[in-house]
Amino acid sequence: MKAIDVIEKKEKNEILEYDEIKYMVNSYVKGKISDKTMSDFLWLIYNNGLTIDETISLTDVMIKSGDVVDLKDVGKAVVDKHSTGGVGDKITLIVSPIVAAAGVAVPKMSGRGLGLTGGTVDKLESIPGYKLNLSKKAFVDALKNVGCAVISQSEKIAVADKKIYALRNEIGAVDSIPLIASSIMSKKIASGSDVIIIDLKVGKGAFMKNVKDATRLAKTMVKIGAHYNKKVICTLSDMNVPLGRNIGNALEVNEACDFFAGKHDKRLYDLSVYISALMISSAKNISFRKAKSIVLNLLENGYAKTIFYKWIKNQGGDLTKLKIKAKKYIVTSPTSGYVNSIDSNQIAQLVFDLGAGRVKKKDKIDYSVGLVLNKQIGEKVYKGEPLAVIYYNKKVSDMENKVINSFKIDKKKRNVKNIILHTVK
Ligand code: URA
Repeated sequence: MKAIDVIEKKEKNEILEYDEIKYMVNSYVKGKISDKTMSDFLWLIYNNGLTIDETISLTDVMIKSGDVVDLKDVGKAVVDKHSTGGVGDKITLIVSPIVAAAGVAVPKMSGRGLGLTGGTVDKLESIPGYKLNLSKKAFVDALKNVGCAVISQSEKIAVADKKIYALRNEIGAVDSIPLIASSIMSKKIASGSDVIIIDLKVGKGAFMKNVKDATRLAKTMVKIGAHYNKKVICTLSDMNVPLGRNIGNALEVNEACDFFAGKHDKRLYDLSVYISALMISSAKNISFRKAKSIVLNLLENGYAKTIFYKWIKNQGGDLTKLKIKAKKYIVTSPTSGYVNSIDSNQIAQLVFDLGAGRVKKKDKIDYSVGLVLNKQIGEKVYKGEPLAVIYYNKKVSDMENKVINSFKIDKKKRNVKNIILHTVK
């Protein structure tokens, strides 16, 4: 087989066979075809798309390019959760212990952030002592004894996806539905869970900007899951506005602590309860209603909080040492009214410029910096009242105005839309 023949076939928009896709992917991983040839191939997929069968073939080849985790030893229902990444998204830190407290194991292999939105691994690294690498035995023991474990994604999972995703980032071919679906699902299926809940973010602060495209992506991922006999459920959630109050690595861990202390932001609470209930109902095969009442009970009686602290301690983390070594700058409101929107993209850009994110994988980040929103959408603010607090070590030019300009404050209050847009099963 030759790469040029496969490329010509895709140029004519003909359907590719499994072996042709396998040839392209495996040859690229082995260095037998160049970045340029692979880029041509990816651009054709980007422009011409893939059928669902071709997308499944691509997923399958990427799964087989690395290790596949076997979680049978855990001995209880197992459910994984994936978020496509959003501004202030600390949901993994909150739902993992809630679901674990309900007796369902949550094995999470998370990634670092690249670009504007932070990754769960970066947030956990802001906790002194937290170990992101556990042996297979320690991982399974944590799932048996604590119920959840969050580690960094093994380099050996979906090896082809790593190389192809890096190339897609470099050439700007990220936002293609078959490429995103196969990339996410290859890692999730190789990670070993039978039930996978995907929190698909939609809006200004997400890579899916509208519900129509996000729904197409969700349906593709559900179909890929069905091919592997995995239950995949995708929830579309709003990411036009940052999630919760805190944005920035250590600040987000702090907000998770606040959450378990009973101090919650409404939209963060709504989404956390919804995703937790979806995970429990799918893993235990019980109704959503029953699962939701379990979640509310675990929050009320403090058992979810106990598991949160047990999980962090089990992985060596010391939350009492979570230091936010940054200066504070209070931004006050220039006017009175109602906060009708907060532009998540602008906020993400500012937090990134403060040093919380990275451009290249090896870049160092500042765990302490970020933003705490004193006001969220739907809330009343008076002129001169604090809108937000900037945590900084290096000032960013015009940072005060950047915060003010991301807020839309009007005399009239607009209805706050539900954070959960819809669910695709
Ligand atoms: N996240 C992934 O893992 N892959 C993509 O292609 C996009 C987001």
